[in-house]
Amino acid sequence: MRAFVLGVVATTLAVLPAWGQELTPIKLAEGVYGITGPRGAINTGVVVGDRGVFVYSCQLAEYDQRLAAIRSVARGKPIRFVANGHYAWDDTGCNHMLAEQGAVVLGNPEFARLLRPYWAGRVEDDRKSGRVKKEYLEGKRVEMALPSVLFDQKLTLDLGSHVVELIVVGKAHTPDNTVAWLPREKVLFTNDVLFAELHPVADERSDLANWQRILKTLASWGPASVVPGHGRFVPGNGAKPLLELDRYWETLRQKVRAMKDGGKSLDEIKKGMVAEFTEFSTWGKGGRFEPAEAIQSGAELIYRELSKP
Ligand SMILES: [Zn+2]
Repeated sequence: MRAFVLGVVATTLAVLPAWGQELTPIKLAEGVYGITGPRGAINTGVVVGDRGVFVYSCQLAEYDQRLAAIRSVARGKPIRFVANGHYAWDDTGCNHMLAEQGAVVLGNPEFARLLRPYWAGRVEDDRKSGRVKKEYLEGKRVEMALPSVLFDQKLTLDLGSHVVELIVVGKAHTPDNTVAWLPREKVLFTNDVLFAELHPVADERSDLANWQRILKTLASWGPASVVPGHGRFVPGNGAKPLLELDRYWETLRQKVRAMKDGGKSLDEIKKGMVAEFTEFSTWGKGGRFEPAEAIQSGAELIYRELSKP
């Protein structure tokens, strides 16, 4: 009996989230919620308006739980609109499921162009890994995941009680970053333009100088609450996490510049930077990169940006 009880306790602890309130909607304003992804997985934004529900970013691996969390605050309203911060699978994985139930997917042409060739491979990865229920993958088509309403720079959704602006901010983490902004409530859903207390993922698709400009612009809007793509958030966190990530990139930029000006090669800078860049050592793993890899990848991008004529 004792062994059984210990076994149950151990199993329960193993499935407990790394921090509290995961996949539970956190209220940011009347009808406005953020859902925290498990263990740093993508956060979902939800706006419950008089004319229906808007959903921003949803990962298919926890589809049932995310949908249950959305429904728990939806007051019986249907999910009418879906948008994404960018084309990555952890953000767009639920699109086809929600579209099948009648939701309209919204996105800009660059997002659609990147999503189309990428989607089937990620479905296949999930099918092989067994992470996702087969019926959510088999026989599904990219056409259902792609946006059917396209917009260039900005689209305004009038949900009656709420207005949501989808704004293409340009190349940061990837070339198609789009945020969702509620101008009345001053709530901002950033997706992967913001990693909070997690090492941000930047690679050959990213533009760090532009990313920093975007972070400063978003901070200048004076948001009351900001929901990052990955990482913790609390109501009323304001612009602080945006400015923190800008400071992360600026600190790394200064260190890369100093080493480069001191005659170090790219390889030497990448090797040396992990020991050198310690200010954000309390930050966790923010994506597929371990912290050391994230620092090296960021350092390489900055080196290349600084080397441009
Ligand atoms: Zn992501």
